[in-house]
Amino acid sequence: MKITFLGTGGGRFVVLNQLRATGGFIIESKNLNMHVDPGPGAIVRAKQFKKNLAKLNSIFVSHHHPDHYTDLEVVIEAMTLGAKKKRGILISNENVIKGFDDEPPVVSPFHLKVLEKIYILKPDEEISFLNVKLKTTKCVHGEENCMGFVLEDEKKIGYTADGEYYEGQENYFKDCDCLIINCLRPRNSEPYGHMTSDKAKILIERAKPKLVILQHLGMKMLFGVAEREAKWIEQETGIKTVAAKDGQVFEIGEENKSLKNY
Ligand SMILES: [Zn+2]
Repeated sequence: MKITFLGTGGGRFVVLNQLRATGGFIIESKNLNMHVDPGPGAIVRAKQFKKNLAKLNSIFVSHHHPDHYTDLEVVIEAMTLGAKKKRGILISNENVIKGFDDEPPVVSPFHLKVLEKIYILKPDEEISFLNVKLKTTKCVHGEENCMGFVLEDEKKIGYTADGEYYEGQENYFKDCDCLIINCLRPRNSEPYGHMTSDKAKILIERAKPKLVILQHLGMKMLFGVAEREAKWIEQETGIKTVAAKDGQVFEIGEENKSLKNY
């Protein structure tokens, strides 16, 4: 399985200044071509990093925050060949697809209509699609229906999505081949609904994945800090931990190697 990062930035200032790209990531396997969290610039980064969005067969949006959904409609259009062909699957929560309180949905009825299937999920639900199993995971985050996932295909891939560490989070992510963590802040920062690297270390120690990728990096993680934090986690846990770079491609297999950097 292959994971391509169309962005590794997170948090307001990184997103607004595009200090890192924010296009989400794409998971590819024999069965799957899934775009996860197509945030601001996803369409542009897909072109930059040479990913053909017409090949997508599914999209996952973790929650109703702009850095995770703003390019959703154009990515749906790319997946459906300009909204001309009914195809593809959208997996997200109720807030994203239907809206909540005074917040409108983030995707229009027109775009929902061109999809082949829509899953509106809560944390702790399990679905099978395209010969893949996906279980949604709970997040402790400002958007209360925010959810990550564990995907079982050729390999087992976990994605925490946004949110701070909570007791028991590791139970979702036991023995993943690769765990992707949205790690906004370095050690000893206030969590405020986001993962910090010291808490990520606890999650990793307990879940024991084979490879950890830190991404969705906030301002305090830039300029070499994320790489330092990844190295510290790896030394402390003995588990290979990498801070992803924009455009980076990971082959999830025996060696968990990074294929290329742009
Ligand atoms: Zn968020």
